[in-house]
Amino acid sequence: VIPEKKVANWSYATCAYCSTGCSIELGLDTQGKVITSRGNAKADVNRGKLCIKGLLEHELFDSAGRGKEPLMRSRQHEPLAPAGWDQALDTTAAAIKDIQEKYGRDAFAVVSTGQLLTEEFYTLGKLVRGCIGTNNYDGNTTLCMASAVSGYKRSFGSDGAPGCYDDFEHTQCLMALGSNLPEQHPVIYWRLKEAREKRHFPLIVVDPRVTMFAQMADIHLAITPGTDCVLLNAIMYVIFDGGLEDKAYLERHTQGLEELKQTVLDYDPKTAQHVCGIDEDTIRNVARLYAKAPAAMSIWTMGINQSTHGSDGVVNINNLNLVTGNIGKPGGTSLSITGQCNAMGTREWSSCSGLPGYRALENQADRELIADFWGIDQAFFPAKRGLTETDIFPAIETGEIKGLWLVATNPMTSMANTSRIRKALEKLEFLVVQDSYEDVETNQYAHVYFPASIWAEKEGCFTNTERRVNLTRKAVANYGDSQSDFWIFTQMAKRFTNGDRVPLPETPEGAFEEMKALSRGQGRILDITGMSYDKIEAAAGIQWPYREDGSGEARLYTDGKFQTDNGKARLIGVKFYDNNEKPDRHYPFWLNSGRVVEHFHTRTRTGKIGNCNKFSPIPYMEMNPDTAKSLGIKHQQYVRVISRRSDAVVMVQLTQRVAPDMVFIPFHFHDCVNRLTLGLLDPYSRQPAFKQCAVRIVPVDQQ
Ligand code: SF4
Repeated sequence: VIPEKKVANWSYATCAYCSTGCSIELGLDTQGKVITSRGNAKADVNRGKLCIKGLLEHELFDSAGRGKEPLMRSRQHEPLAPAGWDQALDTTAAAIKDIQEKYGRDAFAVVSTGQLLTEEFYTLGKLVRGCIGTNNYDGNTTLCMASAVSGYKRSFGSDGAPGCYDDFEHTQCLMALGSNLPEQHPVIYWRLKEAREKRHFPLIVVDPRVTMFAQMADIHLAITPGTDCVLLNAIMYVIFDGGLEDKAYLERHTQGLEELKQTVLDYDPKTAQHVCGIDEDTIRNVARLYAKAPAAMSIWTMGINQSTHGSDGVVNINNLNLVTGNIGKPGGTSLSITGQCNAMGTREWSSCSGLPGYRALENQADRELIADFWGIDQAFFPAKRGLTETDIFPAIETGEIKGLWLVATNPMTSMANTSRIRKALEKLEFLVVQDSYEDVETNQYAHVYFPASIWAEKEGCFTNTERRVNLTRKAVANYGDSQSDFWIFTQMAKRFTNGDRVPLPETPEGAFEEMKALSRGQGRILDITGMSYDKIEAAAGIQWPYREDGSGEARLYTDGKFQTDNGKARLIGVKFYDNNEKPDRHYPFWLNSGRVVEHFHTRTRTGKIGNCNKFSPIPYMEMNPDTAKSLGIKHQQYVRVISRRSDAVVMVQLTQRVAPDMVFIPFHFHDCVNRLTLGLLDPYSRQPAFKQCAVRIVPVDQQ
């Protein structure tokens, strides 16, 4: 801990790890070096608190592995060698043009992230769609929140979480599904815990594993993996059967009620209990508790999203909250707790799956509006989105995609079935990797590497889980010859003819002004017209909508008007289909994966921070002691975990957290759990099912 008296200046920032969106002050010494971080006491989000990652975040700036200069390799398998920016940018632009001329515009793909600043997402979208002109553009957010986006759109007609953290202070019953809040979003958990200490209300946690969150719950539903839809349908069965639904709300604000009722009739808890693993009485008790609470809310994370029926799971959570009249009121909501710091920003402004400001490629009026605003022909926009990240890699295998630009994402560790990803990367004619770290695993396959600035080496905004836009000011100089992602995009645009016709913004604040202009319009929920950098900093973050006249709302749909054609929310009956790989006699264990509190994503950053790494230095596997005994495995012994894809070696931790037929491995480590995962895709969101596959286990010393 650095004594605060050594701090000469504090610089304003927002944490660049998870989507909680904690407001941070960075302490600089008299030489301008960042020496400490502290939580901003004035910020409503975190009220002065930070988790271990935020507290140590200032150590990122000169951490090991940072990229200092552009690198290139002339031939495959030769080492990357230093190059100047002009050479690296020229080579990349020429390779993109060459691939597009030979194979067509869409043969070059771009995959970005949920980690850039919103202004960078907007600028990248303009570059990719307006200058390079490929439709195969996506973000790694397909791995984490695509199902939430899809589910919100199907139910409410638009993306955008309707609730906020303040709902914890009003709710009278909270159900968390597939979310381990204390480890994944520690400061949101602290907000919830404080609210429950002041005013106890029931907490129901649905998770196959006895997570830290499940330990805090009044009711833990240890569900059979992948059967959330069955549980939710059975809960709604009890609600309709007992006449506990909010009839007035359903009548005024929803459509599709009869279809939903017909669907849930097939899910009597008497039979559903045998599929979802939760006994009938508990299902009935939970249903009554939730429906009778004057305000009840649901939160969820990857346990729902990362599933072959993730989008349906989200729709069914929304169904439950519509049926009980719990949307748009204090303490009553469907709140998707997002993963990355700016997954929301990319959803709002990136143009990955649509056009900026929640506009759709499929909508002609939206295409016309953006084409007009950007000054290009609307024929430039295809009327249908291109491939998602999870479809881009198979398209590399088939030869449809020949070149790829990866921005702040590391598929060699993060994607399912990484042996397949490795082969795809090796097959590319051209790969450019843009990242703050040159030692990121995927860089092994790059032809060109762009070193990007990190976090408070640049300026711009993130949007957090509760739609709060917050700012990071530039606190320190660029590292070596690295440049901001914004600068890299604007320089690349100059190398394309359209770069003159579609001028990219000159500064991040210029991009923000373009976004503001695009958010103007009657009835638009994503309205940021009243915001400015100074106002955001003064308020320590502002939620959208925030209009030009200074009005705004903490919650969406408070008037019961949704973004559908007729303004009514859609109730959509969701049927369970069982298509996952499940344990059998050859592979007898469920494999589950998730996050630990000390690490973020593929450890590109936290793996370099001594005190994060010290608490969680190596991959491990949680295993039930009874199972271990039956296999002759001891605590801290190394085992080989084998799936139908590949294998991985991990150290065993014996714990009752997992059931006898399940094991759990954190997803952060390279060459580990994602060598094993299958990653079947959700049909709506194309998000992979990371959390359900089958494995067998062999002690290393018995081989
Ligand atoms: Fe950062 Fe999330 Fe920790 Fe807050 S809870 S300090 S946003 S990692």
